[in-house]
Amino acid sequence: MASVTERLEAVRARVYAAEIAVGRPSGSVTLVAVSKTKPLAAIEEAYAAGQRDFGENYAQELDRKAQALAHLPGIRWHFIGNLQRNKAKIVAAHAHVLHTLDSLELARELDKRLAPFDRDLEILVEVNVSGEMQKHGVSPAELSPLLGGLAGLRRLTARGLMTVPPVDDDARAAACFRALAALAGAHRAHLRGEPLLSMGMSDDLEVAVREGATHVRVGTAIFGARSYPGAPSPHRDPETSGGSSDS
Ligand SMILES: *Cc1c(COP(=O)(O)O)cnc(C)c1O
Repeated sequence: MASVTERLEAVRARVYAAEIAVGRPSGSVTLVAVSKTKPLAAIEEAYAAGQRDFGENYAQELDRKAQALAHLPGIRWHFIGNLQRNKAKIVAAHAHVLHTLDSLELARELDKRLAPFDRDLEILVEVNVSGEMQKHGVSPAELSPLLGGLAGLRRLTARGLMTVPPVDDDARAAACFRALAALAGAHRAHLRGEPLLSMGMSDDLEVAVREGATHVRVGTAIFGARSYPGAPSPHRDPETSGGSSDS
């Protein structure tokens, strides 16, 4: 089986090819290596190969890994799981970007928890574009009031939007990604800088880059299949089990 370094190289080549295919500058997409459930050694190998952005889904796991790897200069943690308010402190302590903001209550809690650490946090709002019942995130209609509320919180910077598309259907995924990009454009007055778009995973990153993703969140293709019993999978490979919620 290929090493993490080899898999990472292959994913970088896919991102590069996707950027070039659609006429975007190379390097315009940030690759977030999703390391949930994977050991520190795998993260260290990816880091040694130049990877700096890592994604985690579970607050306690982020806490443990960020502390253990705090000596690695320039490492950046992205929290991409469902975040309970009572774990906001962990994200405030370690994360550079939260991809899954879904309420003003959580935003206020994060703002409060960031102060003692004297840290800021970049925020992406998770949008349930597909309207699937089991999906996290706000509806498109809830976006405007949420972004408006964020404007009053000093330590949070609203940068863009994130979505998880329906699985097993590239055409529907593309439609979701396109809708997310349109929403970001419509709300750009509330976003700092060029809107960030976190969309695309191991199986659909090319589709996402084509539709304007600035961040792709790739786990399986870099670190291999995850195995932990009982967790629902956001992934379309039936041999892979994974989870995206932190409960
Ligand atoms: C686990 C996870 C990923 C990575 O998925 P892969 O299919 O393994 O690349 C991306 N985004 C979210 C929100 C996840 O929970």
